[in-house]
Order: sequence, then C-alpha cells, then structure tokens
Amino acid sequence: MTLTLPSAPKIGMVSLGCPKALVDSERILTKLRSDGYSLSSDYEEADVVLVNTCGFLDSAKEESLAAIGEAIAENGRVIVTGCMGNEAEVIRNRFPEVLAITGPHQYESVVGAVHVAAPMPPSAYLNLVPESGLKLTPRHYSYLKISEGCNHRCSFCIIPSIRGDLVSRRPDAILREAEKLVAAGTRELLVISQDTSAYGVDLRHATWPWKGGEVRAHMTDLARELGTLGAWIRLHYVYPYPHVDQVIPLMAEGLVTPYLDIPFQHAAPSVLKAMKRPANEAKVLERIHRWREICPDIAIRSSFVVGFPGETEADFDYLLQWLEEAQLDRVGAFRFEPVTGAAANSLPGVVPEEVKEERYARLMETTARISAAKLQAKVGRQIDVIIDVADGEGGASGRSKADAPEIDGEVHLRDAADAKQGDILRVLVEDADEHDLFGVPVG
Ligand code: SF4
Repeated sequence: MTLTLPSAPKIGMVSLGCPKALVDSERILTKLRSDGYSLSSDYEEADVVLVNTCGFLDSAKEESLAAIGEAIAENGRVIVTGCMGNEAEVIRNRFPEVLAITGPHQYESVVGAVHVAAPMPPSAYLNLVPESGLKLTPRHYSYLKISEGCNHRCSFCIIPSIRGDLVSRRPDAILREAEKLVAAGTRELLVISQDTSAYGVDLRHATWPWKGGEVRAHMTDLARELGTLGAWIRLHYVYPYPHVDQVIPLMAEGLVTPYLDIPFQHAAPSVLKAMKRPANEAKVLERIHRWREICPDIAIRSSFVVGFPGETEADFDYLLQWLEEAQLDRVGAFRFEPVTGAAANSLPGVVPEEVKEERYARLMETTARISAAKLQAKVGRQIDVIIDVADGEGGASGRSKADAPEIDGEVHLRDAADAKQGDILRVLVEDADEHDLFGVPVG
C-alpha cells in the first residue's frame, strides 16, 4: 500500500538583528520543523512568513519595518516576532494586515500564531529535525545562548526593558545542547548572552548533576566543562568582573579559546559613570596586562561608543590614550545614537554630529594602526585556522582563534586545495594588513 502524506505548510523566515535573535530564530524554526512544517527560502513558496525583528536602535527598527513591508509586498501573510514585537502599535499602524505580532522569547506564542495562520493538515509526520536542532549558521560553528536578559541598566540601552532581567539556563541543559552540536559537526561554539560574566547569578550559582559529578551555574565552571568537548570555545559579552580572571588560566591551558569579547564602550570614568556601565573599575588596564602575562596569545575584542552625551575632548583623549595602552586586538566603534526610551537621551551635553564624526575617524585611525602592528607581529608564526570558505581550487579563507565570525578579521590562504569548510589547519602566516592575515597551510 502506498501512503500519501499531505504536504506540510511552508514557513519563510527573515531573521534580523544580533546573534541572540538568530538563536531565537533557530529555536522557532526547530520547533516548527518538529511540528511537521516545511521551510521555504523564498517568499513565493511560503504559506506564511515570519519576520524576527530587532529593536535595539532606531535605525534597526526602521530596517525591521522595511523587512515587514517587503514580506507583505512579496507574500502578504506575515507574522512579526522579536524585539520590535514590544511596539505592536507602531507595526499595526504601518501594516494593519500583519497576521500576528509577538515579542521576544515568546516562542509558544509565535509558534501558536503559525499554527493558526497555516494549520497543519491532520497526520503530518513528526521527528523531521536533526538531534542538534536546525541551524542558520554553517555546520562548523554554532552560537550557544546561556542566558537571556540583563540585570544592568546602562543608560543607552533598552534591552532590559525589552528582554527583562537575567534568566540563566541550567548548566546541564547548556552542556547537553553543546554536546549535540559538537556531535553534529560543530567545531567552534560561540557562547552568547547579554552578560556572560553574570551567568548563574539568578540561580545563585547552584549545582546540577552532570556526568556522575556536578556542574555549577557559573561562567568559570561552564567554560571548563565546555572546554572538554574538543571544540573551540569563544566567550562573548564578558564584563570584567573580578572572577573573569579565573577563566584566563583555562585559556592558557588550551581548554578555552584565548579570546575575550568585552564591550568596554568607553574608558573615561565620567563617561562610564554616565553610561552606568557594569564592572566599571579603574584597574582594568592592570588586569589586561596580567591576563597577557598568564596567556600571551589572548585576543581581546571590544566595542566603543564615541560622542556619548557629556563626552568632552578630554574624555575622548583619555579614551585614545587608554587604547594605546590597552593594545586591544580587535575594536568596533559606534557614533552615539539615541534609542527611543533610553535614559541617555535626556542627558546634558549632546555632542554635535560633526564632532562625533571627527572623533570616530580618530578612534578608527588609532585602532587600525594598533591592529596592523599586532597582525604584522604574527607574520612568520604558525597558527591554527578554521576554514569558513574553500573554493576547491586552492583558495580558502578562515579565521584564527583571535577572530570570531562576522565581526573580526579573516585569514586568506593560498595553496589550500584540500581545505574543506570546518577543517582546522596549521597555517604559516606570510603577510598581514590592517585587519586580515595571509598564509599557507603547512604540514
Ligand atoms: S549590560 Fe548594559 S548594554 Fe548590555 S544588555 Fe545590559 S543594560 Fe544593555
């Protein structure tokens, strides 16, 4: 007897915003796939299109509204979720035909909305999902979200009002997910959250049974356990609380990738105070020097805001001087932009746009010079490179342990005909520019 299965509705997804939003999209798609839905990569075929929005900056909101408009024009049946879901009225006013609007982390609601908009035919077959879930990243690297929300109240940020206070995942659940990802081919795990150093605070750093022993809900313990899985473990969004010092020896031992993404945002004490930044303490430079003594290869990436309200020329000079001393490996910079609802908008001392531009250019010039010198110092050394793209004809590009995907530099390889995506190759560095390295596989 031939069994004819009814065809499952197809879901399209437009995912905007940060890696945390990407993880949300993966979870939603994983749940929908396990419910029997099919996925569609084009508007035309989709029975309904989900738009996972970002509402962090006003420019991101505009981008989200434009994406909703495009999905409506191309398909017409649209469900909106994510950070902008908290501003349902704005969306409804512009696009009254949107089928449903849900906010961030409302997985059940958005999945429920899909079931209403495109009901499954009876008797669809389940278990269509690989053990590791569905991923929007390439197979060889995966984001691993360890908590949601944030207990801080930085004056330029509205994330806590969108996503709420810190809620950490259980460490055993995180480790189980990480194991599945590694078993499915992930060779690099990117640990993300709003505040990775605060992981487990809400759980009072309790312990859970794990592999015959126990694991504590704490960044250091989690990093150590993740380090046993054999993948590169890259820590993002780390604030320099004192206990961060404890993960540096794990990097020196090779358990955790020697890379710290610390969004310092500024260095001048008065600006940091106005920003209400967490772990804002004077001894950070000393600690960075100590970290480098313990783990000389540690790469530190950070981001900075220029033109924050009240930032004086002296504050900005302080920041440049601080950068000269800190010698950070990777730096991203932003000109301050008011976000609707952020406390910083009402601070005095608005910095004119042309001053912001001029400071931004000076900061980029400083950090590009530091980056170029640091990369030049790697010429002649051998490093490990994870391959992201291989053209099969000898050209390939990938990243060293100092480079996270999307935000940092790349390593461009010649004579790498055997390289495949996800391989980790030993590479001789032959040349460098301001952002990237150039090399050839050895051995
Ligand atoms: S630490 Fe500050 S910037 Fe980061 S999410 Fe929390 S409030 Fe926002």
